[in-house]
Amino acid sequence: MRYNVQNRNDEISNQLTANFHRLAADRGMKFDEEAPEVVVSIGGDGTMLHAFHKYSDQLDRISFVGVHTGHLGFYADWQADELEQLVNLMAGTKLPDSITPRIVQYPLIELEIVSEHGLEKYQVLNEFTLKGVDGTLVAQIDINDQIFEMFRGDGICISTPSGSTAYNKSVGGALIHPSIEALQIAEIASINNRVYRTLGSSLILPKHHHCDIYSSKTQRLILSLDHLTIAVDQLQSIRCAVSAQKVSFARFRPFPFWNRVKQAFIGQGFQ
Ligand code: NAD
Repeated sequence: MRYNVQNRNDEISNQLTANFHRLAADRGMKFDEEAPEVVVSIGGDGTMLHAFHKYSDQLDRISFVGVHTGHLGFYADWQADELEQLVNLMAGTKLPDSITPRIVQYPLIELEIVSEHGLEKYQVLNEFTLKGVDGTLVAQIDINDQIFEMFRGDGICISTPSGSTAYNKSVGGALIHPSIEALQIAEIASINNRVYRTLGSSLILPKHHHCDIYSSKTQRLILSLDHLTIAVDQLQSIRCAVSAQKVSFARFRPFPFWNRVKQAFIGQGFQ
């Protein structure tokens, strides 16, 4: 198996990476930075976001695995002390069928942004957000080519199902199981009074729908794409939809989404 490691570049993840390379070499695995079959992210969820964007042009043939060096992550669900077990599974060491690797695929969002930079296309794993630089964001939101609302507020967060547990959750969005092909539009502090009106709750679009966002060209905007941030001074439009492509995670053992949600947000001690 050809693999690469993406790490957070701190002391503990550098140490774990060195251990991983040593264990992998012992088991005949081949380090390949250009065309790996599996990319192992060592760090946190942010490290997985970096790995995803680094290999976003090879999603058709790469699977990702995440090892965390601190708290349990949503993408980083292997612990540091399980590294040897992970390498053994990756190298195909015979183990009970119950932990045979399998691939799970999660939906992504595709974006087409038209601005002073021309037409740019992106895919995000968690979400993108749009905010005003100088204050209130004013943006027209269309759904399936019909005007839906004129948004005024701090911003808009449009997330994937696997990103629904991240920023989206902080702004009151629902958690969506990643087997559901959808995107979620959540408001960030919308203004609602007798003059201005937005829906006031998040909404979920199915795969065959799309959303367009328009803002005045004079408005300075900040666009975040997962961990990346882009300044946009003359936005014409953003079109977003559930992407035709998915991201693959190699699951060498079962770890259901709702178990991860419970462990991350509720904890073990509460029944
Ligand atoms: P980071 O690594 O500090 O991540 C911030 C936190 O988000 C971490 O605790 C991380 O574990 C968590 N996180 C990331 N993806 C997650 C997911 N899918 N489910 C649950 N938790 C998740 O910062 P970064 O490297 O810049 O990561 C960018 C991400 O941070 C963004 O994609 C966004 O989701 C998140 N974020 C959240 C908030 C917020 O909750 N108010 C604000 C900004 C960014």
